[in-house]
Amino acid sequence: MPKIAPLPDLSRLCIHTITTRTWSIETAASKFAAAGVKGITVWRDTLAGRDIAATGRLLDDHGLSVVSLCRGGFFPAVDFPDRIKAIDDNRKAIDEAKALGAPLIVLVCGSVPSQPLEESRKQIADGIAALLPDCKASGVRLAVEPLHPMYADSRSAINTLRQANDLVESLGSPYVGVAIDVYHVWWDSALETEIARSGRLGSIFAYHVSDWRTPTTDMLNDRGLMGEGCIPLRRIRAWVEAGGYRGFNEVEIFSDRLWGQNQDQFLANIVQAYRDHV
Ligand code: ZN
Repeated sequence: MPKIAPLPDLSRLCIHTITTRTWSIETAASKFAAAGVKGITVWRDTLAGRDIAATGRLLDDHGLSVVSLCRGGFFPAVDFPDRIKAIDDNRKAIDEAKALGAPLIVLVCGSVPSQPLEESRKQIADGIAALLPDCKASGVRLAVEPLHPMYADSRSAINTLRQANDLVESLGSPYVGVAIDVYHVWWDSALETEIARSGRLGSIFAYHVSDWRTPTTDMLNDRGLMGEGCIPLRRIRAWVEAGGYRGFNEVEIFSDRLWGQNQDQFLANIVQAYRDHV
């Protein structure tokens, strides 16, 4: 097992807006900056009704790097017109990312319970392939995030890093890589091997951290703060860094329990947990 030291400072700490979802993006920007956070990943819902370019300037004024826009994807659909609609929505996301100054879009690829997973995977590959000219024109990259298999029915037919790597390899584009989210992949016995493969492909575009609680009481909204669960965070970060990754460590937590806390205290706890456990 590789030994890895704690992170020396907060220079690679990014927080997703959904982690502190009760805050507007303006509030998040000032609170994150005051706490010494250096990166922000913006969820699309926080941009609703806003001037996106002006929001990008606001984040920049706070010294925050926009790490990515969350999220695109949801490509599969039984009917062809719905698949076209999904591709159009992803084009819109690429436009938003460019306006915001986000170099990357995280893809939750989608799945449809009424069709075979193989069919959904094919539609995902076709959907991403259709976007490649837009990526090239805009410079915005796409990160395929494998999701835990408990979401295979309706959120993503890409459930392991191996499947994500296969997809990235088959597309063969410098604009398509992977987002490694520990919550989704920590259990996988092939994880170390597949992270090394992502590294060889030069395709580790993002790294998301949180923790897995026992028992987990909600499939979506019961993620833990780092250190609250059983995910070997330092070990996985060592693998990701051995794969050449030097980008942000992104804190992405959906939790009814933590959203219910005083959010200033929660932010302080995130910073402490980042120092102690990531
Ligand atoms: Zn994630």
